[in-house]
Amino acid sequence: MTPVLRFAPSPTGRLHLGNLRTALVNWLFARAHGGTLLLRIDDTDLERSTAEHAVAIETDLTWLGLDWDRFARQSDRFERYAAAAERLKASGRLYPCFESPEELDLKRKLALARHLPPIYDRAALKLSAGEAAARIAAGEQPVWRFKLDPGRIHWDDLVRGAVELEAEKMSDPVLVKGDGGPLYTLSSGVDDIELGITHIIRGEDHVANTAVQIQLIEALDGTVPVFGHFSLIADAEGGKLSKRAGSLSLEELRAEGIEPMAVLSLLAKLGTSDPVEIRPDKPALIAEFDIAKFSRNRPKLDPEELWHLNARLLHTLSYAAVADHLPAGADEAFWLAVRGNITRVGEAEAWLRVCQGPIEPEVGDADFLAAAAALLPPAPLDETSWSNWTGAIKAATGRKGKELFLPLRRALTGLDHGPELARLLPLIGRERAIGRLSGQVA
Ligand code: GLU
Repeated sequence: MTPVLRFAPSPTGRLHLGNLRTALVNWLFARAHGGTLLLRIDDTDLERSTAEHAVAIETDLTWLGLDWDRFARQSDRFERYAAAAERLKASGRLYPCFESPEELDLKRKLALARHLPPIYDRAALKLSAGEAAARIAAGEQPVWRFKLDPGRIHWDDLVRGAVELEAEKMSDPVLVKGDGGPLYTLSSGVDDIELGITHIIRGEDHVANTAVQIQLIEALDGTVPVFGHFSLIADAEGGKLSKRAGSLSLEELRAEGIEPMAVLSLLAKLGTSDPVEIRPDKPALIAEFDIAKFSRNRPKLDPEELWHLNARLLHTLSYAAVADHLPAGADEAFWLAVRGNITRVGEAEAWLRVCQGPIEPEVGDADFLAAAAALLPPAPLDETSWSNWTGAIKAATGRKGKELFLPLRRALTGLDHGPELARLLPLIGRERAIGRLSGQVA
C-alpha cells in the first residue's frame, strides 16, 4: 500500500514551528515510504481564513523545500460536506438541536455543580421528527450533532500505542452549524475518506477528534486511516507554543536570517530518540526518519538552539551555497575567512567592513604598532604573511602570546575577537593595514 498523507493547515495565521513540525513529519513519512503528500487548506471558517494566509503557507513550505504532490482547498468542497451531512441525517446519525448557547452553558454549569461530566445531555433526541421539522419550517436554525455510538473507541497509534476512549464520556459533537456550514470534524473526516488518506499524523491535541472521526468515517462507510499523535512542543519554560508566539513564526525567523536546514534539522528530531544535530540536506533527514523514534514526552524548544544549529550549518556552507546572499564585494576567500564566526549570513556584512573599511582602529601602544608596521611584509599579502610578520615582530620586540597578538588585532580590526588574522590580513591589504596600525580610520 502506498501511504497517502496530508498536511491540513487552517489559513488563519502564519505557520509557526508547531505546525511546521506537523508538516515536516508528514512530509518525511511520505518521502521515506514512497508515499504521496496532500496539502489541504482547511478554510471552511470563512471569517477567520484569508487568502493571504493560504498563500503565505505555500510560500513558507516552498521556502523550506517541503513540496506536496496534491492540493485541495476545503472551500471548493462545501457540497461534498453537505452531501455527507444529508447521508448522516438519513441514517439517523445527525440530529438537530435547538438549544441556545446560554441554555447549553447553564446545562454545563448545572452538570459540573452536580459533579457530573459536562457533556451534552441529548435532550434534543426527545424531540419528534415532526416537532423538529415544524421548528425548522418556522425559521429556527438548529445545529446538527453527530450521535456517537456507545462503547470504546480504540486505535493503535503510531506514537502512543494502544489508545482507547469511551464514547459515553464525550459530547455528541456539532458537525453542522446553524447557518448550515460544516465544522472541521465533518469536513476533515469527509476529505480524509474521499481524498484517500491512509495515515493521519498530527499533534496530541487531536486525540479526542480522532475518536469522533473514527466513528464518523465508519458511519460514512470510509476506511479508517492509521493515526499517529505526537506530543506538542513546549516553549523553553514548558508552556504552550502558540501561533501568536510571533518570534517563532517562520516569517520572523526567516527575516532574522534562519536557514531552512536549521529549522528542518531541529523539527525533524525534536521529541525523538535521535540527538538534535545539524544535517546538510533533506535526504539525510529522510534516511534517519522513523515515526517509531517519536516519544510521548513533551519536547522543549529553546529558540537559541535554532541559532546554534544555524551557526553550525554556516560553518560548513560553501561559498557557492551562500554567494547570492552575501553583500557585493564578498568573494570566496572572504567567506571562508568569516563563516566560522557568524550565526547568520547577515553578519557577514560587518566583517566585510572590517576587511574593506572604514573602521576605527583601536591603537593603545603606538610605539609597538609603529615597530610592527615597519616589519609588515611587502604587498601582496597572502595567508603566509601573518606568521612571517608576527615572527619578525616577536624577534624584534620580544613580545609573544596575547601581548603580541591582541594589540595587532585591535588595531587591524577594531575588535577583540574575530576570524583568524592569517586569513583577514590579506583581505585587509597592506596599505589599509599600515593606515590602521597608525590609528587612521581606514
Ligand atoms: N486544520 C486543522 C488544524 O489546523 C487540521 C487538523 C488535522 O486534522 O490534522 O488543526
